[in-house]
Amino acid sequence: MSERVSERMSASIRLLPDTLISQIAAGEVVERPASVLKELLENALDAGTRSISVTLLEGGVKLIRVTDDGGGIVPDELPLALARHATSKIATLADLERVATLGFRGEALASIASVARVSVTSRPSSSTRAAMIRGEGGPSSNVEPAAHSFGTTVEVADLYFNTPARRKFLRAEATEYAHCMDVFQRIAISHSDVAMSLRHNQRVVAHYARADLITRVSAVLGEDFTRSARTVDESIAGLRLHGTAGDPGQSRANRDAQFFFVNGRFVRDKLLAHAVRQAYADLTHGDRHPAFVLFLEIDPAGVDVNVHPAKTEVRFRDSRAVHQFVAKALGKALAMTAAQAPAAVAAPVSARGDSLPNIERRPFTIVQGQLGVAQPTAAYTAMIAALRDAPSPAVAHAAAPALASAAPTLQTAAAQLDQPLGYALAQLHGVYILAQNDAGLVLVDMHAAHERILYEQLKANLVAHKTTGQSLLIPVTFTADPLDVAAAEEHHAALAEIGFEIAPASPTAIVVRTVPPLLAKGDVAALARALLAEVREYGIGAVLNQRQDEMLATMACHGAVRANRSLTLAEMNALLREMEATERAGSCNHGRPTWYQLSLADLDKLFLRGR
Ligand code: ADP
Ligand code: MG
Repeated sequence: MSERVSERMSASIRLLPDTLISQIAAGEVVERPASVLKELLENALDAGTRSISVTLLEGGVKLIRVTDDGGGIVPDELPLALARHATSKIATLADLERVATLGFRGEALASIASVARVSVTSRPSSSTRAAMIRGEGGPSSNVEPAAHSFGTTVEVADLYFNTPARRKFLRAEATEYAHCMDVFQRIAISHSDVAMSLRHNQRVVAHYARADLITRVSAVLGEDFTRSARTVDESIAGLRLHGTAGDPGQSRANRDAQFFFVNGRFVRDKLLAHAVRQAYADLTHGDRHPAFVLFLEIDPAGVDVNVHPAKTEVRFRDSRAVHQFVAKALGKALAMTAAQAPAAVAAPVSARGDSLPNIERRPFTIVQGQLGVAQPTAAYTAMIAALRDAPSPAVAHAAAPALASAAPTLQTAAAQLDQPLGYALAQLHGVYILAQNDAGLVLVDMHAAHERILYEQLKANLVAHKTTGQSLLIPVTFTADPLDVAAAEEHHAALAEIGFEIAPASPTAIVVRTVPPLLAKGDVAALARALLAEVREYGIGAVLNQRQDEMLATMACHGAVRANRSLTLAEMNALLREMEATERAGSCNHGRPTWYQLSLADLDKLFLRGR
């Protein structure tokens, strides 16, 4: 052992060979076939192409070929195209600070060539002849004559042929293909003035002619989106936001139709996402996602795109101004929608509350124990069963084992009057519970309240590591887009750890076999969709860690009782008791209140009594 230590200690520092450096860099840039495709497409766009054709074999693992009709590369410079840190796009630090091209690091082709068999064939517009260079797992200087029309073809074959460890991380062909398609569509949306076609395994799967933005977006996202979408075009000094924003009423169950481009580059940015959410906030329902294609044009000096090699993150010099501008500009475009169709837009909850006189809103803060309602009641168990259409009490117990210990019998109306939230009188329009307590009238938003209760229970289970799933009697299968299927395949193991067994059923379908017991009778398909959307948007790591609360909120929302379900008095009382036993029951996960107290004095005032 001591020998080995001394051996290690005496190891001398040496420079790594170029190919190894590229292979290390490839870990960041060349994550999968789709990332190769992205780099090749961006190079074609940087070369000023008007037409791009893409050929894929086996999800891009066997072959990715991109042909463009752009400016091309002169034969002498072909070896440089494959060399590390060789770029024609910037020359100085000043150039970097105002870079307007998609590429600039000069490492993509070198990285790709270090882990695949690459050939670049090109004929610059100034030349009558084409030339080609090949690189197999490293740089090359062998330029040969070739045949090619104006422009460039880059072929990447046998990805990771020389790095078996990385090859293992490649997923099923359908998964890799779905990711390639995603990249292709993003670029297609951002460059409607470039004709684009895509072939996969000899089949033409997409063909977009040069067109204006709306035509292109319709071709890619479907006409449903563009038919109701609003045009956005706002500018202030140095900033322009343009594109098309989906009607708030037409929002979708997932985030698939959300595209934000900064200076032509697709980005996922928290600041921009927040600004968009803010603009839509009062107009869309909580668990729906607006569809939009937005382009922010900003002086390149005002934005740093050199945050990560994949360049989907950006950093704004004046982020506050950018946030404010985006939220305002988009809000303005959406406000026009609202003005034209006011009836379609529901008033926010707070506005309804504000119009009531002198209402004392008491967020519920009394915790378990002080109330003496530590255990869920039998009626609550009954309610859960009813809410979930459970045919028998036995199933209800299986669905909510935490409640199985509930023993007390139904309380009388008189006893329940002492309960803080009182005794249920009726259900109003399938949305509210009206209850009577000592002070007067209690109004409860039943969905919001149930959602909060579920949220707290799910959270407690997660903390206690009680997240084993419950097998569904009949697995739920639903059609899904290929990227959701891909996410289900990739994150199968991680999702199983939180009680979900979600797996691909076919290239366009997903099957759910297991969910956490509390959610077993909810809308399982909607739940799985929402969960996969979160995972795709933020990554599995973030969903399970930093975004855990958001994940639980999503689950609670889909597990909670929907409006227009009629509840019996016993069920309503059970919900009231459970609210009393739940911490922070005073507001739902979205921060909206779950209940209001209207005192007898308030009511007297309404009727000018005692004046
Ligand atoms: P970057 O795009 O960051 O400059 P790359 O490794 O992607 O680095 O490409 C290296 C160089 O090869 C580019 O700067 C460009 O000069 C040239 N190149 C690559 N692809 C093309 C293409 N399709 N058409 C013209 N030139 C290209
Ligand atoms: Mg590039």
